[in-house]
Amino acid sequence: LAKSLGGGTWRFFAPDMRPRANQTVQMEAELRGALSRREFTLHYQPQIDLRGDRVVGVEALLRWQHPQRGLLSPGSFLSLAEETGLILLINEWVLNEACRQGAAWEASGLRDLRVAVNMSPIQFKRQGVETLVKEALGASGMRPTSLELELTEGILLGNDEQIVKQMHILRSLGVTLSVDDFGTGYSSLSYLRSFPLHRLKIDRSFVQDLGSDPSALAIVRTIIDLGHILHLQVLAEGVETESQLQLLRSEGCDEGQGYYFSRPVPADEFADWIAQYGKGGTERRQASMENE
Ligand code: C2E
Ligand code: MG
Ligand code: MG
Ligand code: MG
Repeated sequence: LAKSLGGGTWRFFAPDMRPRANQTVQMEAELRGALSRREFTLHYQPQIDLRGDRVVGVEALLRWQHPQRGLLSPGSFLSLAEETGLILLINEWVLNEACRQGAAWEASGLRDLRVAVNMSPIQFKRQGVETLVKEALGASGMRPTSLELELTEGILLGNDEQIVKQMHILRSLGVTLSVDDFGTGYSSLSYLRSFPLHRLKIDRSFVQDLGSDPSALAIVRTIIDLGHILHLQVLAEGVETESQLQLLRSEGCDEGQGYYFSRPVPADEFADWIAQYGKGGTERRQASMENE
């Protein structure tokens, strides 16, 4: 096709492809500098106990305040960070910053607030992740029992002895461990027996379809039952509506997280939000959804 339009193939495609390749190269260079320029930041999304209607934790979610492109979500740079290995440094920063913030909240009187950090698979598969965690806890003074690490099913697949060992060390420190996006990874459930886990996070794709798709409800119900039989807590991700919340409650789901309660917000906004939470009830929550 290119040739039939005249001109060489190369010249035909060049205008299209060059900028894109350049953009990736440029993005990689920018990513390398982003840590030292302090362009990363964390947003926090509350996790709610569905029985007591209490805020029990927050998930720290990485954002990149890009000088030209604005606030970027991990979807637009995480794979590049993984490919280049920069995720190791970035996630080390995330861990330290989340612990620092957690300790600050603790000191300000927000007690028993769990802070959950997403771990990168390549970081977790390395030896010495427990050293990073110990250092972050030590430097911040945050109580180990307030820290939760979110792992993906991919990390747990293969039942790696080294990883089991690291997880036991983390657990002995008091750190809790959860499986993120549960149900989307690998169908093998055997790892649930071998790892010292505390919580399953039901992927939001199942929660999204709860009201409309009977099979989504069946899957959610099964995950909750499975979790409870194995003495694990179960949290539903991506709760957006009142009816999803009601269904999850009636199925006995322990905790929920999602836009229905709050979007991920900067630390200071979270502090304002939680101060209002006890008072505002549903109206307050609806308002937080309409904001965006
Ligand atoms: P995740 O850990 O499953 O985090 C939940 C994602 O769902 C977040 O996207 C959050 O903003 C979004 N979300 C929360 N509630 C709702 C809802 O009600 N509806 C919908 N549609 N979405 C909701 P985000 O912040 O863009 O993060 C995407 C993923 O990037 C995360 O998925 C996590 O896997 C990864 N990630 C985030 N922060 C870090 C980090 O510090 N390190 C690493 N390695 N990965 C991270
Ligand atoms: Mg997560
Ligand atoms: Mg998730
Ligand atoms: Mg996800």
